[in-house]
Amino acid sequence: MNPPASRRTFTRLLRIAAPFRWWMALSALLGFLTIGSSIGLMSTSAWIIASAALHPHISTLNVAIVGVRFFGIARGVFRYLERYVSHETTFRLLARLRVWFFQGIEPLAPARLMEHRSGDLLSRVVADIDTLENFYLRVIGPPVIAVIVGLVMMVFMGAHDIWLAASLVVFHLLAGIGVPLLTRRLSQASAVAMLTTRSELSVALVDGVQGLADLVAYDAQDRQLKHVQALSRGVQRHNRQMARVAALDGALLGLITGSAVLATLLIAIPLVREGRLDGVLLAVLALATMTSFEGVAALPQASQHLDANLAAARRLFELVDATPAVQDPPAPLPVPDWSAAGSGLAFENVRFRYATSDPPALDGVSFKLRPGSTVAVVGASGAGKSTLAHLLLRFWDVDEGRIVLNGHDVRAYAAEDVRALFGVVSQHTHLFNATIRDNLLLARPTARDDEIERALEAAQLHELVAALPDGLGTWIGEQGLALSGGERQRLAIARALLKDAPVLVLDEATANLDPVTERAILDTLQSALAGRTTLLITHRLAGLETAAEILVLDAGRVVERGTLDELLASGGHFRRLWDIQYQALSDAPTGN
Ligand code: ADP
Repeated sequence: MNPPASRRTFTRLLRIAAPFRWWMALSALLGFLTIGSSIGLMSTSAWIIASAALHPHISTLNVAIVGVRFFGIARGVFRYLERYVSHETTFRLLARLRVWFFQGIEPLAPARLMEHRSGDLLSRVVADIDTLENFYLRVIGPPVIAVIVGLVMMVFMGAHDIWLAASLVVFHLLAGIGVPLLTRRLSQASAVAMLTTRSELSVALVDGVQGLADLVAYDAQDRQLKHVQALSRGVQRHNRQMARVAALDGALLGLITGSAVLATLLIAIPLVREGRLDGVLLAVLALATMTSFEGVAALPQASQHLDANLAAARRLFELVDATPAVQDPPAPLPVPDWSAAGSGLAFENVRFRYATSDPPALDGVSFKLRPGSTVAVVGASGAGKSTLAHLLLRFWDVDEGRIVLNGHDVRAYAAEDVRALFGVVSQHTHLFNATIRDNLLLARPTARDDEIERALEAAQLHELVAALPDGLGTWIGEQGLALSGGERQRLAIARALLKDAPVLVLDEATANLDPVTERAILDTLQSALAGRTTLLITHRLAGLETAAEILVLDAGRVVERGTLDELLASGGHFRRLWDIQYQALSDAPTGN
């Protein structure tokens, strides 16, 4: 990353941490008091030992003895408080970062997030944010504390002799700026590479676990294992390089601290000889010098963490800054009222492609969906049927033409308001690892149990739920794996019915079901859907009898349209699909 970009990332990070500035200030103050107590403890101890050698009266030592006790206890108490406050700050920052990130990526779903692999997203959400957890504790805090300790020590040493202060400043700068710069040079590449490799590892692991069954079936687990091992070794290598640099820092700091003590003595001894400095203070100055390096000891690590933090922040910003595929207008129209006169939905010559290089997914599609009626969209796989639903839900916006809702272009409304009008059942509905009730309540959190029962009944799931020992409280496992494919789909249908939205979009809702169950559900849906506005998307030509209009889609174009009877009578594309399917169905054995 070039320097101005790093600076921008850094200031942006600071802005995110800004609400906790008082917590940070308190923590830095406590950090200074801890190191200050250490210096006080060592200095008073040195003073007592040196004075005692001169056999003074015990009363001379009394104050210093109290001082040793005070600093000894204070150091422990301040250290505890500093840890307490700095961790509190860190956890608050962490919570804010997670919420900030989630809010940032939410508008990107699903269009923009599809461009990222799930392991990569996971790595950003978990590992990168965890890296930033250190932002205060290891990056911001240490330099602030080091500067305060340095300034106070400079005044203390300067009070005895200006050269003592000058020497201390030189060694502090060496340890606090020289060593960190060297560290940064040596470990910058590793810190950044480490994050990328860790993310790749996470992608490989998530991918491997999700596809485990297929890997085993194709006997490809060894190759996947080798890939994961290679990435693990990469992470290890970068870690080792960073540890090596940290060890070098430790050695250099020791060397610099020792040299600083030596320099203090070399300057102070002549002063004692000339009678300008009390001999007892010699030990005090030497030990105070030594202890003051506690303040700079964390700086080389801070510079190591800085790069990892900047790289993590950059990866997060990159995602959060992506432009959503759809944006709300500055002043959206009020929520469209579906029951109002003149309401309805229309596609007007809609054209859309997912990427400029792709062929059009929809190419001049027009139709009207009047309240209370059903429009069916049929066609082979890839014809563009789901794209219709995506555009309706405003996951993407049309390239040409428009979608009209209640007389206005959908782009004039807030996307969220438009989505509230639709209950959707798609082929890949996500079920959460929660109870049946919780999965249903997602659609309408305030729904009562009797409403839930009715929705389950309409989706023909009530008998199954009633037979379960825990009923609605039954956990359905990750992605609903404790249920069969058909049951999962019926749960999704129940969820959409419970939402009770004005328009129902059934996107291949019964595609995973065997023909017998499909027929049974379509019959039940028929009564549940009576009077509802429905967009029925399917490649299976079943349940089309009630459709006011059937659109036959092929390569994004409407190639035929009409009622079921008209289409069957016309003997065109639809009739051929119909004959093929019913021929296949009468040949195929049934079963789930
Ligand atoms: P259907 O639902 O009829 O099977 P789709 O609407 O899913 O068809 O797909 C229509 C075309 O758009 C296909 O060529 C498909 O490859 C493409 N497509 C669908 N989703 C995406 C996507 N997210 N990104 C790019 N192309 C897509």
